[in-house]
Amino acid sequence: MRAILADPRFKRILIGEDPTNVDRCWLTLKKRLAGAGSSFGTMVTAMSGVELALWDLAGKAAGLPIYRLMGGKLRDRIRIYQDCGAEDWGWHADIGAVARRAVADGYTAIKFDVDMPTTYELDPWNRCLANREITYIVQQVGLAREAIGYDVDLLIDCHWKYNVSDAIRLARALEPFKLLWLEDPVPPENVAAHRLVTQASATPICTGENLYLKHGFRELINTHACDVVAPDVPKMGGLSEAKRVADLADLYDMAVGPHNVSSPIGTLAACHMLATVPNFLVLEFHGCHVPWWSDLVQGPQPVIKDGYIMVPDGPGLGVELNEDVARAHLRPGEGWFEM
Ligand code: MG
Repeated sequence: MRAILADPRFKRILIGEDPTNVDRCWLTLKKRLAGAGSSFGTMVTAMSGVELALWDLAGKAAGLPIYRLMGGKLRDRIRIYQDCGAEDWGWHADIGAVARRAVADGYTAIKFDVDMPTTYELDPWNRCLANREITYIVQQVGLAREAIGYDVDLLIDCHWKYNVSDAIRLARALEPFKLLWLEDPVPPENVAAHRLVTQASATPICTGENLYLKHGFRELINTHACDVVAPDVPKMGGLSEAKRVADLADLYDMAVGPHNVSSPIGTLAACHMLATVPNFLVLEFHGCHVPWWSDLVQGPQPVIKDGYIMVPDGPGLGVELNEDVARAHLRPGEGWFEM
């Protein structure tokens, strides 16, 4: 990603453009980088980073928060769910205790992974679930549900692991737990497979974190192949493009629950856009094991309070990157971002 952004061919494209014409700048990048892959993958994510920065700049130039430039806000705060994930990619020793801890931190929605191997797995490649695996997963989800009750929303992520028929068996077996959603039960490339799972169970199905641009979501949404759409805002194209996806989903009466593994910069940028989106449901927070996550920005603190993010009212993003904190947590061997 840094290599793309530092590439002089990328950097030169916007020289001479008015940076407050955000959509024009982004479409210029998309057009000029078409041959280099501006419709999918890392190139789109690099363009998304630029787009977020342009919105921040445009907001600062106008003296307005980004949400004002995007049509004004419908809500003052954005509901966040805590991704409790897995334990070092294994099963939590006490999933109920983890669930209770997240709720004690104020979250009204929490998510767990269930796609780690169980001792009952017969084959790691064939996407099949043995009956005993389903029984084990149902037992673990039941323990989480029992710990938090039914007033807290519970989400389960499968990371694209299963085939259609076994995903359906799992979705049906989890129906008693009234999940907010079951995420990515089947591989992401096959919209028809998602549609089969979605139609076969009362458990709502969520997907979308691997899709890029509005075009990537077209078939998923217009065939109603899921119940909740999960664009990753700073990955799939940026604020304008994610808002277009949300609008398309709204046209089909579908909710949007974005995937998010970002720093507070990407997260707050998404919040500005989501404040303007009628069909927004809940936004992911993936950094609960990163104690300095909030410290990465200077501005209203803590960024997440009682399971919500207040949308900042300052110009642009309303926060600034704390470069000292960011530099202090560079990965080994990773240099500082210089343009
Ligand atoms: Mg996921």
